[in-house]
Amino acid sequence: MNQILAVGSVAFDSIKNPFGEVSRVVGGSATYFSIAASFFTRVRLVAVVGEDFADRGARLFEGRPIDLAGLQTVPGETFRWKGEYGFDLNTRETIYTKLNVFEHFQPVIPEAYRTSPFVFLGNIHPRLQLEVLDQVTAPRLVAADTMNYWIEGTPGDLREVLKRVDILIINDAEARELSHEANLVKAARAIRAMGPRTVVIKRGEHGVLMTRPGEGEFFAAPAMPLEEVFDPTGAGDTFAGGFIGSLAACGEITDAAMARAIIHGSALASFAVEDFSLDRLLRLTQDEISVRFHHFKRLTHFEEA
Ligand code: AMP
Repeated sequence: MNQILAVGSVAFDSIKNPFGEVSRVVGGSATYFSIAASFFTRVRLVAVVGEDFADRGARLFEGRPIDLAGLQTVPGETFRWKGEYGFDLNTRETIYTKLNVFEHFQPVIPEAYRTSPFVFLGNIHPRLQLEVLDQVTAPRLVAADTMNYWIEGTPGDLREVLKRVDILIINDAEARELSHEANLVKAARAIRAMGPRTVVIKRGEHGVLMTRPGEGEFFAAPAMPLEEVFDPTGAGDTFAGGFIGSLAACGEITDAAMARAIIHGSALASFAVEDFSLDRLLRLTQDEISVRFHHFKRLTHFEEA
């Protein structure tokens, strides 16, 4: 089985949206990613939490194929983030980002994890993403995520990361900001010129656009039309978990495998938004995933004549 080394944030989130407000719920890029990817393959999680996280990790990840040897607990407070959504849930404002224990975090990749064939660099300081890359040995595939916080705050470090990744997973606003191109096709090409062969642009309720060199240069998937959308927090990381998880489980990196992985990612993300925080993912089953995967197939299937 191809295992995935996943590095990113494990967090306490506070979320406000038109349906309500929750505070201090567990979130973080690596949390959503790992739980989503663990439906497909084994995940080796590397992250840091403060002592206030107590035994939440053990409870959350328990019973799933997620290895926690790389989850450090250090004195101090866990990373905290608060976001507030607009009426249609498409716009989100970050109210605060408190790095806390992330400020002095040095990712130490356990010896046994260093040869992981698949590596996912979740949304954290790009310098930490580079430190992870310096510790791994010849991975088959490296994927990374980032966000406006780092695009604006640490552009030089981010450029170094981009030179060393195969796939960048990024949302549409961030793709435009990073490339200074308003048009998404031009933005994706400009980002590919910075390093990653494949750029996957997440477009929220409008789905996903993947671009890579070759015949299948573009592949697009819609988002599942859902009547109940409660909380888009973590949808992007959940998408990434389903996407990389599917690729790692199949072990091939062909156009067909990439397209299937995009649908797996989209299916997982469509569940994540159905409830606050991680709640829907925590009660998700393999059967539900496979039913929704087939719904996706029907959603876009048509006959030529
Ligand atoms: P998403 O909705 O997919 O963009 O992911 C939201 C998750 O990312 C939340 O659970 C946050 O805890 C986490 N997050 C937000 N900002 C940052 C940041 N600057 N660094 C690391 N993780 C973050």
